[in-house]
Amino acid sequence: MGEELSYVDEIMEILKKELRDYEDFQNQKWKKIEKTPFTVLISCLLSLRTKDEVTIESSIRLLSKYRTPKDMAKADVKEIEKLIYPVGFYKTKARRIKEISKLLVENYNGKVPDSFDELIKIKGIGRKTANIVMMYGYDREDYLAIDTHCHRIPNRIGWIKTKTPEETERELKKKLPKKYWKDFNHLFVRFGQRICLPISPKCSECPIEKFCKKIGVDRHR
Ligand code: SF4
Repeated sequence: MGEELSYVDEIMEILKKELRDYEDFQNQKWKKIEKTPFTVLISCLLSLRTKDEVTIESSIRLLSKYRTPKDMAKADVKEIEKLIYPVGFYKTKARRIKEISKLLVENYNGKVPDSFDELIKIKGIGRKTANIVMMYGYDREDYLAIDTHCHRIPNRIGWIKTKTPEETERELKKKLPKKYWKDFNHLFVRFGQRICLPISPKCSECPIEKFCKKIGVDRHR
């Protein structure tokens, strides 16, 4: 483990407490679909540029009907589109979901590969999605999923100084205590969607403002 991140325990504790009710509410909803590597993969693909609330509802509609790669590979793309609407880029996502499901059936025996390196070979699956599948689908501990919120916020706080999500993943793996890896992604994504917004973050109502260096934040409210 490299140098410590300042106030990491305080910040993680506050965010957990702050988002607890919201997380409980969301987790209740997720219970409507069985958690498998495939459902984790599909929900993650749906979540790109989409609010959590919309992702959850769309995932439930789609995955209640098509639970496995085999089912999904046979589904009609138009039907997938209808079920996932209004997620962002729903047409592209519907096509991609069908393609990936077919590939899983043809090349991986109808299963989501249990290997990060195999996952990122699949067109449409990037590092973030592969990390999410390994972490939440296969309950592996050595993975840390970084999306745009997880990249932006630690840079603003002053924890790290990185240019790309990949660099952030590397730095945080060195510096963030492992006990926080599992919570990090969903806490920071939700925090980024609600308070530490990409443009004009809501610093005046931010529960961790006193610990934040606001690096690169020119405009806030
Ligand atoms: S103080 Fe502002 S910039 Fe810092 S974490 Fe809070 S919302 Fe984000």
